[in-house]
Amino acid sequence: MSRSIPVGLGARAYEVVVGRGLLDEAGTRIAPFVKRKRVAVVSDETVWALHGARLTRSLEAAGLAAPAVVVPPGEQTKSFEGLADLSDRLLALELDRGDLIVAFGGGVVGDLAGFAAAIYKRGIDFVQIPTTLLAQVDSSVGGKTAIDTPRGKNLIGAFHQPRLVLADLDVLSTLSDREMRAGYAEVVKYGLLGDYAFFEWLETNSGEVLAREPQALAHAVGRSIEMKAEIVAEDEKEAGRRALLNLGHTFGHALEAETGYGEALLHGEAVAAGMALAFRFSASQGLCTGQDAARASAAIAKAGLPTTLADVAPRAFGADPLVRHMAQDKKAEGGRLTFILARALGEAFVARDVDAGAIKTFLAAEGATP
Ligand code: NAD
Repeated sequence: MSRSIPVGLGARAYEVVVGRGLLDEAGTRIAPFVKRKRVAVVSDETVWALHGARLTRSLEAAGLAAPAVVVPPGEQTKSFEGLADLSDRLLALELDRGDLIVAFGGGVVGDLAGFAAAIYKRGIDFVQIPTTLLAQVDSSVGGKTAIDTPRGKNLIGAFHQPRLVLADLDVLSTLSDREMRAGYAEVVKYGLLGDYAFFEWLETNSGEVLAREPQALAHAVGRSIEMKAEIVAEDEKEAGRRALLNLGHTFGHALEAETGYGEALLHGEAVAAGMALAFRFSASQGLCTGQDAARASAAIAKAGLPTTLADVAPRAFGADPLVRHMAQDKKAEGGRLTFILARALGEAFVARDVDAGAIKTFLAAEGATP
């Protein structure tokens, strides 16, 4: 029970397979991409304890040697130290250019193992087996890989496309409800940025998706991946339309930076509040209707996600520090602020010259202190 979604990137084209039972098929699906009969599986401790044995069984049944490199869970692993440790352990396995890395985990493992694959012996193939909703609908598709530095998130990285992505909906059964909601924010993002019909469907079916009802989950994940694949195929290196995927991210990154990139505010939660803010800012500038902004917020809130500064943290945020983070964001060009704004539900656009003063006024109206 699965379907394949192509990512049309010419010589770097690949398939994203979405469905159930894919861990058991991983060996036979990955074997055609392996030159020698060996892969290295990179995973985190949590995912490995829950699902590692099943993946190993499947790889070995297909005749593949599959040593594992298991790293600590959490964003702090996506660092220079984490990269050095992983690279050293891959070298110790004597992994070669003809071998392949399998990234088996959430966005942290995907970004770290993907970046290691991009630079290991000048580049080695890798396959993504994403295990969080966020990783399935977003980070495993499109070839963005990166680590964080103390100066900010995802600042050191590379575009390196996987050879194959296997999104097994079964593994989501062990994901916490909070991580499920955080990933759902990225699902709503696709509706809000470019597919009004999908947004409307989500307004009605969010409860089923979050409860992991099989048909609703398959539709939500499948439609999200289709949209990501289509946008990436059109604009691999984010010269234009791919930037729409950053809806909610300029506000969101600033909130994450202020709350310290951790358990206090998950990435998806920051994006959720960021999208609600982007729609309300759009309405405040007369770009979309207040009714559309209210519907966007209601759909996000219905999933139990934050939509206001007060939802994110009980303390007040300062407008100045938030805007300072926005200006440092790598999407800021020449000091001007870049935002993804909206003309309507399902109609986002890239606004490259947003006035910082207008953002500060808006944030003050949203309850920020100066
Ligand atoms: P994550 O990888 O930290 O996973 C969240 C938590 O869930 C971890 O503790 C993990 O161990 C656990 N987990 C994973 N799968 C599980 C499962 N099936 N059952 C139980 N627990 C499970 O976080 P994430 O939200 O998947 O990814 C966030 C990262 O993705 C961030 O670093 C972000 O920058 C990155 N990201 C990258 C892109 C991209 O295009 N490359 C896009 C969006 C986000």
